[in-house]
Amino acid sequence: MIAEVIFTGTELLLGQTLNTNAQYLQQALAAQGLDLYRQVTVGDNLVRCAQAIREAAKGADLVFIGGGLGPTEDDVSREALGEAVGLPLVRDEAALTIVRRFFVSRGVSMPDNNFKQALVPRGGLVLDNPIGTAPGVILAHGGKHYFLLPGPPREFARMVDEQVLPYLRRHFAAGVISSRIVKFCGIGESTLDQSLSDLLKSTNPTLAPSAREGQVHLRITAKAADEAAAGRMIAAMEAALRERLGRHIFGTDGDTLAGAVGRLLAGRRVALAETFTGGFLARSLALDAAGSLACGLVLTGDAPPALPPGLRIKPEEDVGEAAARMATAVRAYAASDFGLAVTGAEVGDERSVERFAACIATDDGASCRVKELRLWGNREQAARRAAEAALILLWRSLA
Ligand code: ATP
Ligand code: MG
Repeated sequence: MIAEVIFTGTELLLGQTLNTNAQYLQQALAAQGLDLYRQVTVGDNLVRCAQAIREAAKGADLVFIGGGLGPTEDDVSREALGEAVGLPLVRDEAALTIVRRFFVSRGVSMPDNNFKQALVPRGGLVLDNPIGTAPGVILAHGGKHYFLLPGPPREFARMVDEQVLPYLRRHFAAGVISSRIVKFCGIGESTLDQSLSDLLKSTNPTLAPSAREGQVHLRITAKAADEAAAGRMIAAMEAALRERLGRHIFGTDGDTLAGAVGRLLAGRRVALAETFTGGFLARSLALDAAGSLACGLVLTGDAPPALPPGLRIKPEEDVGEAAARMATAVRAYAASDFGLAVTGAEVGDERSVERFAACIATDDGASCRVKELRLWGNREQAARRAAEAALILLWRSLA
């Protein structure tokens, strides 16, 4: 069963409103085992909306149209659907009751233009909207099903959950699509691509990589008759990934790198000294691995005199030497198992790909590891990447 989704709203095209309804609906459709090959956004325009519906119906069995069910001139989804399928709009008494109820419950009289919201392409099934004025519509016509849904996200989500999904389950009980994200660090997307080139060709489950700051996420998606079967397919693929690249995998789904570091620390504690990253490292560990954080010092030019000399910044010092000295000093200062320090400086200008030189050091009492980085972008991007690199270094030294 193939679905296509159309979202209407000039504000979506202008980038003023993020299309959160798309994410909501599409996750729900995937979980129902429906295939979605295309998502379309059109402005509040009758001709283009009708055109999008006709196009969608060429390839899809189910066509969802979100937004444009309001009472104003620019709300054109009802008319567009009628026009696309060649059916007249007729006033529906059930729809009129829903629209009226909204105004009655607020004790105000219904403006004339709201009558428009009770119009339905002939034969359409009206969907209740308990929290808004616009009724939804399901229209079965010419072997296809069309769904008109209101734009406001609260109304949209509730109509999807309470009416659309049960309808889909009743009429098109399909299989399930299930997915899991496997998260890698310390490996580039192209290296990962090469090591997994054969697996990446798999069609069920599929593998879809996406690169993040210092990480690569690989989404495994399986389609099967039920959850259990999909789960087995995903587990088998994950095992194959772990066999090849397990040393780069730090977690799955909602796992964070800081959380993975926390698990590996297993009760041991780390102390941080950050100059370049301005607290990003402390924030990651404090939020996702709080029990592992002995302390986090954000150091600037004028450190308080009470701090040990090893934690004072010396402007003329090489960033590498400074990082190593601070990692050792902060570990001693906090009497913790590990010390982790990040230093850095601007060495180029906005256009240079090596704008910043940063250095990370870890000290575990036995040895000190140092890693130098060259970073581009603005100050904040560079700081975030350096913090991520520091977590990777720590994760690797623990793993
Ligand atoms: P209304 O009766 O409010 O006019 P409607 O069904 O006509 O409802 P729209 O006019 O398209 O819906 O949108 C109403 C509100 O919902 C707007 O604030 C709009 O930005 C928001 N909205 C519409 N579509 C989406 C979407 N896909 N994702 C997030 N917000 C949306
Ligand atoms: Mg509207």
